[in-house]
Amino acid sequence: MKIIQSVHQLQNELERFRQDQKAIAFIPTMGALHGGHISLVGIGKKKKAKTVVSIFVNPTQFDNAEDLAAYPRTLEKDAALLAKSKCDILFAPSAEEIYPPGLQTEVRIDLKGLDQTMEGEFRPGHFAGMLQVVKRLLDLVQPDYLVMGQKDFQQFALVRFMIKKLKLPIDLIMGPTKREKDGLAMSSRNTRLTPDFRKRAAAIFKTLCYLRRNIFVKSPRLLQLDGMQQLANAGLRPEYVRLINGKNLKPLRSVKNTEQIVACVAAWAGNVRLIDNLILKGPSD
Ligand code: AMP
Repeated sequence: MKIIQSVHQLQNELERFRQDQKAIAFIPTMGALHGGHISLVGIGKKKKAKTVVSIFVNPTQFDNAEDLAAYPRTLEKDAALLAKSKCDILFAPSAEEIYPPGLQTEVRIDLKGLDQTMEGEFRPGHFAGMLQVVKRLLDLVQPDYLVMGQKDFQQFALVRFMIKKLKLPIDLIMGPTKREKDGLAMSSRNTRLTPDFRKRAAAIFKTLCYLRRNIFVKSPRLLQLDGMQQLANAGLRPEYVRLINGKNLKPLRSVKNTEQIVACVAAWAGNVRLIDNLILKGPSD
C-alpha cells in the first residue's frame, strides 16, 4: 500500500491504475478506522477495483470546535489496518492540499431540503461541509465506485442526490452497518465513550429493533415517542428518533405505501454524540 499526502503524487499513481485499465473504488473517511471502514474496502476489492481510502478530518463539516479537536486521530494504526486489508492507496492530505487558497470548493446545489432535516437540524452547516469535501475528493480521485456506509444514511442520501444532480459518472455503493456484539454501530467516536456510557449506548440498537418489531403495529408518531423514552430511560440524551421515507427523508406518512422506511436515531451518550439507523422496510440501499 502506498501512503500519499500530495495531490500531485496521488494523481501520478491513479494515472498508472488507469493505464492498466483498472477500476478505482474510493472510500472517504475521517480515520480512527474500525471494522466498518475496513468492510467498505472489502466491497471495493470484491469489485476487483484498486482501492483508495482517504483520511481527512474535514474542518468544514464540524459545527463544533470542541468536537473537531476531540475527534480521534490514529494515522499510524489506520495505515497498518489498511495495509492488512490490502488497500492500494491511503491518501492522507493536509488541509492546504484539499482547500488551496483561492480555489472555490463549495457545492452550490438546491438540496431539496434533504440537508434540513435530522442531522441538518442539529448540526447546522454539517452537510454543506460534507458535500464540499466529498466533491473535492471526487474531483481529485475520479473513482468508478464510491463506497459509503449505511451508518450515515442521510449523508448517503445527500451524496446520492449530488451525484445525480451533477451527473457524475460514479457508481455509488452502500455498505451495510458493522456492529459490535451488543449491536452498537461501530464508530470512531465509540473510543471516546466511558465504560458506563459504552454499556448504555447499546440502547440505541435495542430501540431501533423495537421500532422494527412494531412498525406495522403502532403509529409512527407513537413509535417515535416510545423510542425517545427508551433512550432516555437508558440514561442517554436523545436528539431525535425519526421514521422516514428513505428515498426523500420526509416524515413517514403511510407505512403501507412507502417503498423504503428507515428509522434514524441521534443521541448523546455522555459527551459523545452517536447516530444510527435501520432500514425497516424496502431495499437495503
Ligand atoms: P467516517 O470516518 O465516520 O467519516 O466514515 C467514513 C465512511 O465509513 C462513511 O461512508 C461511513 O458511513 C462509513 N462507516 C462508518 N461507520 C460504519 C459502520 N459501522 N459500518 C459500515 N460503514 C461505516
